[in-house]
Amino acid sequence: MTLPRDASDRLAAAKLWLVTSDAAAGTGDMPYLSTAVYAMQPVATRDVVGMAVDSRWRLYVDVEWLMAAEVPDIGRELAHLALHLLHDHAARADDVGVTRRTASAWATGADATVAELLADAAGRPPASGGHPLALAVELGLVPGRSAEEHFAALSGLPARPLLGEGDQEPDADGEGRDSSCGSGCDGLARPYELVDDGGGIDEHGARSIRERVAIEYRQRWPSPGSMPGEWDRWVARILEPVVDWRSVLHAAVRRGIGWASGQTDYTYSRPSRRQSAVPDVVLPALRRPVPRVAVVVDTSGSVDDGLLAQALGEVDGVLASLAVGAGQVTVLAVDAAVQAVSTVRRAADVRLGGGGGTDMALGIRAALATKPRPDTVVLLTDGETGWPQQPTPVPLIAVVLGRPWEPDLPPTPDWAVRVECRPE
Ligand SMILES: [Zn+2]
Repeated sequence: MTLPRDASDRLAAAKLWLVTSDAAAGTGDMPYLSTAVYAMQPVATRDVVGMAVDSRWRLYVDVEWLMAAEVPDIGRELAHLALHLLHDHAARADDVGVTRRTASAWATGADATVAELLADAAGRPPASGGHPLALAVELGLVPGRSAEEHFAALSGLPARPLLGEGDQEPDADGEGRDSSCGSGCDGLARPYELVDDGGGIDEHGARSIRERVAIEYRQRWPSPGSMPGEWDRWVARILEPVVDWRSVLHAAVRRGIGWASGQTDYTYSRPSRRQSAVPDVVLPALRRPVPRVAVVVDTSGSVDDGLLAQALGEVDGVLASLAVGAGQVTVLAVDAAVQAVSTVRRAADVRLGGGGGTDMALGIRAALATKPRPDTVVLLTDGETGWPQQPTPVPLIAVVLGRPWEPDLPPTPDWAVRVECRPE
């Protein structure tokens, strides 16, 4: 059932309060939650006390409560319920085997983490109307722990069955209405919730909402530590790339060397004239030249030095693991013009100069001109650069540097092997 017009307006006002940053007006100041709160689909019902969510992002609203509650209190309650969905408490409850008997312990633990997340921001939800949230310390729990850890500590407590089970329903009020946070918190379906008809938000949709919120949170709080640690851990977990960029880089360099030599198997031992003169000794059938790698580093002003230093360290690690050592690596520092061409022992030894614009085509040309010619070129750049018009004669691995919360890094040519490097 959709909300009546006036209830809809009130909910809209509460969302606006929550996502607006206006210190003088004392608003919620959580703009990064907007994608989540606007994604929740309201359903009017008399079966809940205040509001509750299901695991498909439907927001069950008691209209009577909504019309009577203060707008900031509704806003805080929206933040509380959105955090259950963002933190995927429903699936996590399922993972630890929460049942109707232990649902209350789970909800208490999950709510303690939500209280911590909200404590420094919009403030805890109201004690009346919405769900009173207690901080871990107030429950005798260890602050900063996860919902799972709280649950383990609490699940030994006397069970409080949910609506629809047992004679007494402590999580229901006198009229048998559900006073819990809903299946969006504990993953257990309620009688009043809409049957799974394909409506609401599915797992794919939920993932994009979480990513959007994490990106917006990072934009708001770029340096970790300004908000409770649970936020930073959550953001890092959401934005962690599915595939670790180091393994992608490793595979790309290994392939680059393999393509160049025609074999993935190479050796450092030079054919010995003396040995080959001995007829009984069988020499290895394959002898590949030692692979040579050129590392071209974009040192233009737009590139983040910290990011670059980290990426260079990783490139060294990859080359070392592939037994490409000192003398086989040429490192070129490049910006608008090739500033320096130097052969260093390690990529991390490159001196970062820079400033000005960028044209990596120059750097790549300089790398290919070194003698002997490299078997593969590894380019580290932020991608804000010109590129060669033609494919390079040896594999070009374009490592594009970016921060985890930057949604789209600049494009690279089709013929280059692209590796996105987004360190923590
Ligand atoms: Zn809750």
